[in-house]
Amino acid sequence: MDFLESDEHRDLRAAVGAIAARFGGDYYVEHARAGTPCDELWSTLGDAGFIGVNVAEEYGGGGGGLVELAIVCEEIANQGAPLLLLLVSAAISAEVIGEFGSPELRKEWLPGLASGRTKVVFAITEPEAGSNTHRLATTATRDGDGWVLRGTKHYISGVDEAAALMVVARSGRTSDGSPLLSLFVVPTDAPGLVRTPLPVDILLPDKQFVLHFDDVRVPAEALVGEEGAGFRQVFHGLNPERITGAALGVGVARYALRRAAEYAATRRVWDVPVGAHQGVAHPLAQAKIETELAALMTHKAAWLHDHGLPAGEAANMAKYAAAEAALHALDVAVQAHGGNGVASEYGLLPYWGLARLLKIAPVNREMILNYVAQHSLGLPRSY
Ligand SMILES: Cc1cc2nc3c(=O)[nH]c(=O)nc-3n(C[C@H](O)[C@H](O)[C@H](O)COP(=O)(O)OP(=O)(O)OC[C@H]3O[C@@H](n4cnc5c(N)ncnc54)[C@H](O)[C@@H]3O)c2cc1C
Repeated sequence: MDFLESDEHRDLRAAVGAIAARFGGDYYVEHARAGTPCDELWSTLGDAGFIGVNVAEEYGGGGGGLVELAIVCEEIANQGAPLLLLLVSAAISAEVIGEFGSPELRKEWLPGLASGRTKVVFAITEPEAGSNTHRLATTATRDGDGWVLRGTKHYISGVDEAAALMVVARSGRTSDGSPLLSLFVVPTDAPGLVRTPLPVDILLPDKQFVLHFDDVRVPAEALVGEEGAGFRQVFHGLNPERITGAALGVGVARYALRRAAEYAATRRVWDVPVGAHQGVAHPLAQAKIETELAALMTHKAAWLHDHGLPAGEAANMAKYAAAEAALHALDVAVQAHGGNGVASEYGLLPYWGLARLLKIAPVNREMILNYVAQHSLGLPRSY
């Protein structure tokens, strides 16, 4: 055991890496270019127990936590296959249903999440609310024994691959007018739920959707945890999303830097390899330092979450640092390749959009800076 990882963690890293390496960057890029999900990789990882590594053993999961899930995310991305849906299905949905779901909800959804055979994606973002969760306008209204959902969500990933969505909706207001949020698990084939693809110019295997909830009825059992406790429950899922997002960024950065180092060590246009020039080596080294610092903070955030300690600050900092590191690493990796940096054969630019996305989603960098300014530095709230 070193000070961060046990022998089991190292074994997990090696086993996940070995599977992901069999698929590798070419497999991922092919699917990202075609816009088709990486089903074979997902199911192979699921069969090996790695998609559900953080689900409790009684539901067929690995009985681990976010430290283990972050290792999975980091290692697959390190082999060039960053699976974005792990952030929503494995990190948010499995964590929130596992922590707050009723025994019935857990029995219904956790075995599939544990095996990786079922995906439950996550729907919070709305066109008019954006980063301001207090403005969410999708409503959940009691109707007899159940609930009726009305409203619109957008940029919801992987709806076509998922059996259900975890939806954040307004189910009431406090006396001072603040919204009370509740969470519901809604089957993707629920009558009244209409999805429309939302095209983006990022190469991703998974598609994004606009969702209209047109009087979507769900039974009382679809409610996750307590009515009106949505904010607290959602935050339990958003830290895991940020932590796994950070892990994905760290993995992408390591992948790009490894590829760049290999290239720079062999490409000769003068008497020495291009990597012998400090103008090439130093930017790669700088990005490597940024990446490993981001990895440390990612591990800290995952550890805090698993120990039931406040993880918001570390999760935000990890996501911020990893997004910056990933984009910078790709940039210097492309530069080290010269013209080949943009060639399809070298497959670096297909990761650009994902790395850029990590500065916007799951939470944008400005909201993280707001958080750190306010909570870490005690500055006045700016918005
Ligand atoms: C490819 C993709 C996949 C996604 N997948 C999902 C998903 O599966 N589920 C889901 O629910 N959502 C998803 N999202 C949505 C994503 O989480 C949001 O886009 C993100 O949180 C930012 O919200 P917004 O786009 O509404 O930006 P806005 O809130 O409109 O903000 C625009 C910009 O203004 C700035 N800004 C906003 N508020 C402040 C402030 N208070 N202070 C300073 N600056 C500010 C930021 O720079 C921000 O980037 C996805 C988005 C994309 C692009």
